[in-house]
Amino acid sequence: MAIERTLSIIKPDAIKRNLTNAINTAIANSDLHIIAQKRIRMTKEQANIFYDSHKDRPFFDELVDFMISSPVVVQVLEGESAISVYRNLMGDTNPARAADGTIRKIFAKSIGENSVHGSDSAVAARVEIAQFFSDKEIVGCLRQHLE
Ligand code: ADP
Ligand code: MG
Repeated sequence: MAIERTLSIIKPDAIKRNLTNAINTAIANSDLHIIAQKRIRMTKEQANIFYDSHKDRPFFDELVDFMISSPVVVQVLEGESAISVYRNLMGDTNPARAADGTIRKIFAKSIGENSVHGSDSAVAARVEIAQFFSDKEIVGCLRQHLE
């Protein structure tokens, strides 16, 4: 077990329904610390880069258009096993299959409009955090830095 950081995004469907605080409460209740957070309007270029690994999937254009359809909140979460803890808190990509009590089960509208993103590996977390935050914008509370 180790202290990790992960990138979270509160997606447009949740932003439009004013769910930022409800989702942040669920994050806090899971012992994850929000150590950086900002509200941004993602550009098409940023969304293309962010979801590059999905560029050949049939839903890619729809996904990019969704992610730029309203502001989003990007966050860095820190905590013990933060990557898997947050994935478990989010629940399955498809809310119909998500476990009770998970963010997606409670809030998501569909497999596409599923309220939150969370990095799926340590490598992804590092790359995704670096896309949206400089080191100066992240002030960890559990350990000075993970390097
Ligand atoms: P996750 O966000 O759970 O890691 P993926 O990485 O597989 O899921 O997919 C990235 C995002 O693409 C999903 O969160 C969702 O917004 C969208 N997506 C995934 N599968 C579909 C699908 N079948 N139809 C529409 N959108 C999808
Ligand atoms: Mg993913």
